[in-house]
Amino acid sequence: MTFPTLLDPTGAAPRQLFNYAAGEWVHGTGATAPLHHAVTGRVIAEAGSGGIDFADMVQHARTVGGPALRALTFHQRARMLKGLAQHLMARVEGYYAVSAATGATRRDGWVDIEGGIGTLFAYASRGRREFPDEPFHVEGPTETLSKGGTFVGRHICVPLEGVAVHINAFNFPVWGMLEKLAPTLLAGVPAIVKPATITSFLTEAVFADIIASGVLPAGSVQLICGSAGDLLDHLDGQCAVAFTGSADTARLLRQRDAIVQHNVRFNAEADSLNFSMLGPDATPGTEEFALFIREVANEMTSKAGQKCTAIRRTLVPESLVDEVAAAIGARLAGIVIGDPAVEGVRMGPLAAQAQVGEVQRAVDAIGHDAELVYGEVGLPDVTGADAARGAFYPILLFASADPLRRTAPHDVEAFGPVNTLMPYRTVDEAIALARRGRGSLVGSVFTGDDAVARTMALGTAAHHGRLLLANRHTATESTGHGSPLPGLVHGGPGRAGGGEEMGGARGVLHYMQRTALQGSPTTLSRVVHQHMPGAAPCGDAVHPFRKHFEELAIGETLITASRTITADDVDRFSALSGDHFYAHQSDQMARLGVFERRVAHGYLVLSASAGLFVDPAPGPVLANYGLEGLRFVQPVHPGDAIHARLTCKQKTAKDTPADGIPQGIVAWDVEVRNQADEPVAVYTILTLVRRRRG
Ligand code: NAP
Repeated sequence: MTFPTLLDPTGAAPRQLFNYAAGEWVHGTGATAPLHHAVTGRVIAEAGSGGIDFADMVQHARTVGGPALRALTFHQRARMLKGLAQHLMARVEGYYAVSAATGATRRDGWVDIEGGIGTLFAYASRGRREFPDEPFHVEGPTETLSKGGTFVGRHICVPLEGVAVHINAFNFPVWGMLEKLAPTLLAGVPAIVKPATITSFLTEAVFADIIASGVLPAGSVQLICGSAGDLLDHLDGQCAVAFTGSADTARLLRQRDAIVQHNVRFNAEADSLNFSMLGPDATPGTEEFALFIREVANEMTSKAGQKCTAIRRTLVPESLVDEVAAAIGARLAGIVIGDPAVEGVRMGPLAAQAQVGEVQRAVDAIGHDAELVYGEVGLPDVTGADAARGAFYPILLFASADPLRRTAPHDVEAFGPVNTLMPYRTVDEAIALARRGRGSLVGSVFTGDDAVARTMALGTAAHHGRLLLANRHTATESTGHGSPLPGLVHGGPGRAGGGEEMGGARGVLHYMQRTALQGSPTTLSRVVHQHMPGAAPCGDAVHPFRKHFEELAIGETLITASRTITADDVDRFSALSGDHFYAHQSDQMARLGVFERRVAHGYLVLSASAGLFVDPAPGPVLANYGLEGLRFVQPVHPGDAIHARLTCKQKTAKDTPADGIPQGIVAWDVEVRNQADEPVAVYTILTLVRRRRG
């Protein structure tokens, strides 16, 4: 089937969106839902998923997508994400055109579209840096389980063998899909994407390009535009659900029989009444005051306030409420509402008429407990559009006189350009107000006083997934209150859903099973392809530094000759390094501290051990670029004889730049021992080793 790649929002007749089920583009049968252009109100598409066999979709993911993804290593999956990101990035202009029909301005669209593609890039990069070139991940250190060291433990994380169901909210039709797909696919798990119906036409457009790219193995991703029907009833304990949407829907879905019965992992990102606080020190005229005003106005109006992270509750010192209201109002007054396609328009409509009603209901409730201090309820003045036809909503700022007792602004989320000012008298009172959100995605504190930042951070952290501590020093580079970032946790406790997404490598592990392996160090080393202390060594007569990456075996061990560290060595090392620490000077001086006798510098021991194991002639080893986990276990005294034991612990192939030398990273365990064969220093060195093949 030829897929009409992009929806034409200006086209005369609405087009029915496709679903992508079990490798086929299919239309749902039966009833469809009309999808409206947010600006004109015109029906531009229809969505329906009637007649689709959801059991078959789950089975397709299990039997086709899962095995294909699990056969790839993390690095292969990461390269796949990068290829996908590049493919989509080349097509963003088309997505912007469709995005305008959701009511998004160019800037809103950038966060959604390029923010989503950026998340793919970020995970592509992390996948190669933070995970091994294996289909599984080895987590944490070896756990010692026995005195003799013959019985140890190690954790591995393997991909779940079911499917990840991603149920997304309407406000980020692209980012919402890609921020979940990136960690899921990197984990090696196939996904079924279920966007919110009202903006699914944009998700469908991007999804079509994902399939057309041919980058993903068959069965990796499927799409439902319309109702999810009985999809969740076909999941089992190898599946995961990642939900974003309202707390009510989250509650409903996580109680479904199949979810409860099979203990299906259920991650929820739900409503959030995020706070921002102006510190007591940040009075008018300070940089922090100006930054705060700008951020609050920006958070109220970007995406027309339809951001899960938007500032809903604004905490200000009691004496500054009027000044803050005036300053925010002055900024909001400059925001032109209208058709985002028209020059100068800074805020578009809500995503659909249905949302106008939802927001109005929430505003009515907030209005019982707070007074409107900016804006007017009713149709706003708009530019380039008919306010009555589009899903336009005015910008409203409330102020609560008694936020500790009048609770609606803490309880009701108006998912639009709506915010409530709340006065506080002390920092402790601000903490109490922030916590009234009963669990939020994000809070921010604008203060130049780090003591206030610390009190607020420690007082509210348990109730928030992320906290921005903003001041003049972060001003130019801060990504702001509302931006979830791929490397940081996105999620929040309590009413925010109790879930976590992204957070770098953590987000990948949500889709993996962590399993504790117990056994001998040799067996476990062979299972996980990493050398562990106590595992049987191997090797031959060839020095490991004379071997290319491919020829080195995990566990390959070199035991060096020994060298006596003399008092003269210690003197000369002091002179060379300039390190004249008293314990290296004489027995008498050493006794002034914890040592019984004069000790050699730890760095002398390190340097001398390198002199023992390094093979100096040019060869496959290109460079030593680091050292990890160094511990000086016992002192080395003048007269002690040391030798080193160098073991190939782990190998990671690196991508070769077009004009570069093919290479990989080899991690070596080094143990330096004394004449009694007791360890005196242990560490890991990392070398770059030439590969025979690129
Ligand atoms: P929603 O009505 O709860 O819908 C969320 C998703 O759930 C949609 O894809 C919806 O599909 C789907 N859904 C609803 N009933 C379902 C069912 N029985 N089975 C399977 N899927 C079902 O929320 P929304 O209106 O799209 O989004 C607005 C809310 O989301 C706001 O409250 C906001 O706070 C929250 N939100 C939270 C975050 C976050 O990261 N924490 C991000 C964005 C939004 P249909 O569209 O087909 O009904």
